[in-house]
Amino acid sequence: MNDIIKMSKLYAPTLKETPAEAELASHILLLRAGMIRKTAAGIYTFLPLGWKVLHKIETIIREEMDALGSQEIVMPALQPSELWHESGRWDDYGPELMRLIDRHDRGFCLGPTHEELVTSLVRNEVRSYKQLPLSLYQIQIKFRDEIRPRFGLLRAREFVMKDAYSFHSSQESLQEHYDEMSHAYGRICERLGLEYRAVAADSGQIGGSVSTEYMAIAESGEAELVYCECGYASDTEAACVKIVVIPNTAAELTLVETPNIGTIAALAGFMGVPENATVKALSCKDKDGKVTVFFIPGDHELNDIKAEHAVEGFEFLTDGEMLDAGLCKGFMGPVGLPEGVRVVADVSLKDSASWLVGANKVDYHYQGARCGVDFTVDAWEDLCTAKPDDMCPTCGKTLSHARGIEVSQVFQLGTKYSTAMNASYTDEDGTEKPFIMGCYGVGVTRSLAAVVEQYNDEFGICWPVSIAPAEVAIVPLTIGDDIVTPVAQKIADELRQAGIEVVLDDRDERAGVKFNDADLYGWPYQIVIGKRGVTNGEVELKVRATNEKISLPLGDACATVIKLVEEERAKFVH
Ligand code: ATP
Ligand code: MG
Repeated sequence: MNDIIKMSKLYAPTLKETPAEAELASHILLLRAGMIRKTAAGIYTFLPLGWKVLHKIETIIREEMDALGSQEIVMPALQPSELWHESGRWDDYGPELMRLIDRHDRGFCLGPTHEELVTSLVRNEVRSYKQLPLSLYQIQIKFRDEIRPRFGLLRAREFVMKDAYSFHSSQESLQEHYDEMSHAYGRICERLGLEYRAVAADSGQIGGSVSTEYMAIAESGEAELVYCECGYASDTEAACVKIVVIPNTAAELTLVETPNIGTIAALAGFMGVPENATVKALSCKDKDGKVTVFFIPGDHELNDIKAEHAVEGFEFLTDGEMLDAGLCKGFMGPVGLPEGVRVVADVSLKDSASWLVGANKVDYHYQGARCGVDFTVDAWEDLCTAKPDDMCPTCGKTLSHARGIEVSQVFQLGTKYSTAMNASYTDEDGTEKPFIMGCYGVGVTRSLAAVVEQYNDEFGICWPVSIAPAEVAIVPLTIGDDIVTPVAQKIADELRQAGIEVVLDDRDERAGVKFNDADLYGWPYQIVIGKRGVTNGEVELKVRATNEKISLPLGDACATVIKLVEEERAKFVH
């Protein structure tokens, strides 16, 4: 049973003013409510209340991981560089990796993630398929030297992550564990009270892999997502949506003079057509310097990650390189391109009978350029970043857009690390095979901040009961008298006996100060006890989620509050 938290002893200094560096509600309120303090850019200390919340989030995550048979370990934060050389990530990871050198001149890093370490651990111990599958997790501090640490705990340089890694002897076994993990990640969001969406994520450099991100819905989120009522949801970056293009009506190739038309908007205006009736061209080279021109609907943007999938090592051409390649900047088109230039077009343009596109001649465009007649396309690819009005690839309805905070991600790694690091087991048929791996990360401190982003109002934080630093606050309006004080103590004791987490504001402060603090700290239920009320046999209950105030008969107060808290708790346990 928890002790009653006494406000007079609690180290939770509040701030009246909004700290200058904080922009987002979670950052402002966690600082103002004395839950965290900044040590350096992106590095925070957790004070007792913040620590309690963090601990509760960790408990929820532990329960979910233990329930699916993942076993808790703790790996060191300090990792030898050799392991990162083996995986190739010492060079690939870039300046986000915090590197250091010990007194013997040996290289180390402060782990941003633990694939290398866990792979080296398991390759030395697990030899046979009989020992698989194996799933390990830890809750530990991670380090990433983010270029722009900001938004408090949301993008920090030192943060807490729960990271799990699984090892399998078959794709089916990985899929099974991945599904269980995905399910657990959804439950974790629900138990934290987060409104969230699971979205298909970009698989980054590891093309073809499967990955899902869990996004807490928030206007302040850095991520953009699209979703549909049919269940489809994706990170905007990764979404392969259906794009509507307006087919051009011109039946045959016609050269049109378009003087001083340098942009898509200007071209659309000049021709009197919507922007999605035009075709935009962008030139690039691949890792060997071979030139490609991308063609995409005029109203869309080329997505860098998709471009990289289509053209390995993709880099835009400079003006000089365009000249050298014989390309006409601002007026490129597929008809009459120089010999050897590859044409890669967005799949949506297949639906366009003819294109309104550059004519490879300054101040000229073609209308009615027909694929297969006037030009050919070397490859059709999904190239664009999704936009509002794009359609669901599953059911064809118009997609909805939202912003979100990525709180967690699950990933099928396959054999990327086990192959690079020679981590293999002996299979049933006696052959050596690399482990098939999955990895699964929850941003623990980021989740905490995401909850505050969703649960706040102008007065402060409104913690969901599942992770509130305490469930009920007792706020006596006078201290040291023989009317209010004994009643407050009695209610606090009775609630505590019933297993409720109680905070007692026993400070000799003005009522207004206590009310403001109680709202700022975000106690879900607040019982206000005053002399007049006690004399009349009543206390006041404030429900923080709604700021509703209810008068309760003194005799029923505890039973009512216990019932409310228990009902509220039950909402978070499924
Ligand atoms: P982002 O794209 O936001 O930088 P990421 O995709 O690089 O994150 P992962 O490698 O997937 O992050 O790490 C797992 C989880 O760790 C993320 O889902 C996120 O919740 C958390 N996380 C990552 N970077 C940070 C950070 N700088 N501060 C706080 N939490 C973070
Ligand atoms: Mg991620």
